[in-house]
Amino acid sequence: MAIKSILRWGSWPFLFGCCLALFAYGMHIGQPILYFNLAYVFLALTLFFLERFMPHEREWLGADGQLWQDLAHTLSSKGLVQGLLIFGGVIGLSAFLTPAAEAGRGIWPREWPMAAQVILGVVSAEFMLYLAHRMGHRWPPMWAFHAIHHSVKRLWIVNTGRFHFIDSLISIVMALGLLLVLGAPMEVVKWLSAVTAFIGMLTHCNVDMKFGPISWFFNTPELHRWHHSKDLREGDKNFGENIMLWDWVFRSYFNEDRRPPVDIGIKQAMPVAFRHQLMYPFRRNYYHGLRDKRTEKDPHIF
Ligand SMILES: [Zn+2]
Ligand SMILES: [Zn+2]
Repeated sequence: MAIKSILRWGSWPFLFGCCLALFAYGMHIGQPILYFNLAYVFLALTLFFLERFMPHEREWLGADGQLWQDLAHTLSSKGLVQGLLIFGGVIGLSAFLTPAAEAGRGIWPREWPMAAQVILGVVSAEFMLYLAHRMGHRWPPMWAFHAIHHSVKRLWIVNTGRFHFIDSLISIVMALGLLLVLGAPMEVVKWLSAVTAFIGMLTHCNVDMKFGPISWFFNTPELHRWHHSKDLREGDKNFGENIMLWDWVFRSYFNEDRRPPVDIGIKQAMPVAFRHQLMYPFRRNYYHGLRDKRTEKDPHIF
């Protein structure tokens, strides 16, 4: 069908472009938070309908019993962490660091056009996001936090924000910390936050989309579906959050011309309840013990 073909190729660039344009307008008129939210709701609603109209994996449309847990993690990680950082910590930190940058000690090229500064911000912060994400997979204490995100058995827009809030906090502090130490202005920080939110939701959507060369540069759903694979030859790849530059540099880029697995998730046991998931990193041996003992389906284990 022609319409589906247009939507398959056009949805990702069109939606990402619309979100950037809306946010740029909001920044221009001094209403970035309002326009960010408008763009985010527009993106979520459009993807929600596209997921039903042309799903990548029909099986992933069914309920997994984790809707409220996904939303609770989204609220606690994005809401609380970003709220604290953007409205408290980062602005406070920025106010402290900005005079240093203005006095000529910061190395950020503030004379560059804003678009070039935003690209520089995305590329440099991505190095920290990549590092945090890769550490989250390689270092067991950090994996215990990141495993909450990977425990999902289907990908769709609602589990975009399913992160243990400490997992989010680590990557946000590392990425924004680097930008502020370099002397980047708050506009760049706001742009990075918006771009990361838009790409994050696009990345997790269950929409049948095509990408071609877009996946060489940006983190797309087709790349991120490999990242959620149980098979570590596929899952231990594509750590990029927004762009794939550092995956190319550190040889963790992975994409093959075949369907990624439907059966995604982790090999460890994950508790069902939100509050138990929050405690999971501190009590993971307990939950692993439960899984080893269970004979039938255990209602406490997701
Ligand atoms: Zn991961
Ligand atoms: Zn993911």
